[in-house]
Amino acid sequence: MDIIRSADSMAEWSRKARLAGKTIGLVPTMGALHQGHISLINKARRENDLLVVSIFVNPLQFAPGEDYARYPRDEERDLSITGKAGADAVFTPDAGSFSEGEKTIISVPGMNKLLCGESRPTHFDGVTTVVAKLFNVTGANKAYFGEKDFQQLVIVKRMVSDLRIPVEVVGCPTIRESDGLAMSSRNRYLDADERIRGLSLRSGILEAQRMVKEGIREANKIEESVKKILNEANLTIDYVSICHPDTLNKIDHLDGPARILVAAKVGKTRLIDNDSV
Ligand code: AMP
Repeated sequence: MDIIRSADSMAEWSRKARLAGKTIGLVPTMGALHQGHISLINKARRENDLLVVSIFVNPLQFAPGEDYARYPRDEERDLSITGKAGADAVFTPDAGSFSEGEKTIISVPGMNKLLCGESRPTHFDGVTTVVAKLFNVTGANKAYFGEKDFQQLVIVKRMVSDLRIPVEVVGCPTIRESDGLAMSSRNRYLDADERIRGLSLRSGILEAQRMVKEGIREANKIEESVKKILNEANLTIDYVSICHPDTLNKIDHLDGPARILVAAKVGKTRLIDNDSV
């Protein structure tokens, strides 16, 4: 497995691979790898000749005061996981060097200010700017993103479609702990009590799915029931929102494809989850 630390070396590796007629799958991550990441890596491994995993804690997607400095980093463990999973290359540019100095920002206006973008107004521009650059330097044919970060997946798909970036974005299902908590590198911030209270995101979503199955169609009514469950667990709600899965526009009456997205703080840790309803 090649360990590549500069954008130039990555671009050269990719150029050679493509000249040799190989397809490249990319899994972009911020490291601290868990089963959620590994499911993306395994799928990408199966579907491409070559597999590149990027590990980059992207400073552009953290606002001042967020957890950039304390975000978990464990390169040795991550390299062992990617090696065992059969990655051909890990692209892990030095902190900052991949995202400092450039002036260009890639932005998907509108979508970038909805939902998580309301409380994190610069977050998605940081994501799209760095993801576009990762697509360019890795020359990936396919790139794999988790539905766990559903808004990110939708925004990246929109960027790729708008800019005609020659990469196929593949969405992958959310991997959960056995009790239903969506796996996340941030779960390690939770203490035992917070860990249990954090489960209410999943309980809320399951309740929403139950209500829809029962025939309830008013989004507002469903959202209020979910909020009640989060409040009972003493979470600080950021949003509970039923949206169209392609546009992320709010839905009032459920009569077609819909997704419920939830974000809330347990103590200091912000958790997100979502599912179709
Ligand atoms: P991150 O390292 O948190 O930036 O995540 C890297 C990629 O892994 C993103 O596409 C995430 O959506 C995806 N991912 C993170 N957690 C999960 C999970 N529990 N299930 C599936 N994909 C995930």
